[in-house]
Amino acid sequence: MKSGFICIAGLPNAGKSTLINSLVGEKVAIVSWRPQTTRNNILGILNTTDCQFVFVDTPGFHKPKNQLGEYMNKTVSSSVKDADILLYVVDAAKGVGDADVRFLEGYEGKMPVVIALNKEDAVTRNTLFDALKDLNRFSWASAIVPISAKKGDGIDTLLEEIKKVLPEGEKLYPDDVYTDKSMRFMAAEIIREKGLYLLDKEIPYGLGVEIVDFKKREDKPIWDINADIIVEKQSHKSIVIGKGGSMLKQIASGAREDLEKLVGDKVFLTLYVKVKPQWRDSEYLMKELGYNLKDVK
Ligand code: GDP
Repeated sequence: MKSGFICIAGLPNAGKSTLINSLVGEKVAIVSWRPQTTRNNILGILNTTDCQFVFVDTPGFHKPKNQLGEYMNKTVSSSVKDADILLYVVDAAKGVGDADVRFLEGYEGKMPVVIALNKEDAVTRNTLFDALKDLNRFSWASAIVPISAKKGDGIDTLLEEIKKVLPEGEKLYPDDVYTDKSMRFMAAEIIREKGLYLLDKEIPYGLGVEIVDFKKREDKPIWDINADIIVEKQSHKSIVIGKGGSMLKQIASGAREDLEKLVGDKVFLTLYVKVKPQWRDSEYLMKELGYNLKDVK
């Protein structure tokens, strides 16, 4: 038996969330047009007959612009440090950039590094070849595998390469657990994802979700979930609510469908919209929303 923690890192939009979805086959991370929507480590677990792969997803590393940025940077370095393997995703369409080089060089000789050259479906052979040539500078890496996270191409090869460097050991989690994040966290991410998707680019970045209530009824297989959507400005609140509540209704009905898949039962979802100015800059409010800076120091 082999098992271990594999930390997925890479620039925003490299395709980390798409890859973890394609690896684990469960909806565990947000896929969206917007960089940096994945704010916490999310664990997805893949069990095969002789392996357990525990994937830790990290937000894209970048220069912190506010508390949330600082939080994300800390999460990246602390989750890489605790992992057995670093799985680094490079966007073939963008090529290998300075930021990739700086990040990866820090891990030479520190831990096994597997590099996934993603989006091979979106580039020409020549571009792919050039990117592979650039990646040659990391010849110390355990493997460099071209993949398409979106189409599922190269995923088996990628898993084989990870398996080669996965430590021997018993399973870290029971088979039926595929995430160590609480259901509450997953529920918040689902609601946030629906909001971001439906609002498109109208509310840049300022959307938090706080689960107020999350419980199963004792007498029936029904879950009551109450959540607050947190925005920074009054004007954003009106946008989220929409004309006659139409937008909020759409967010709720979309989220409810996914929440029912998550809990496996019927869900009654109640959403409120609250204004908390500058919530992303306030350590106190971030804590309230589940992001704890001290946790990751
Ligand atoms: P993250 O920020 O690294 O988690 O990136 P995402 O997984 O959110 O992906 C960013 C964008 O790239 C999304 O629009 C994805 O649909 C797209 N994407 C991810 N993987 C692939 C791929 O293999 N091929 C193509 N063509 N697009 C991809």
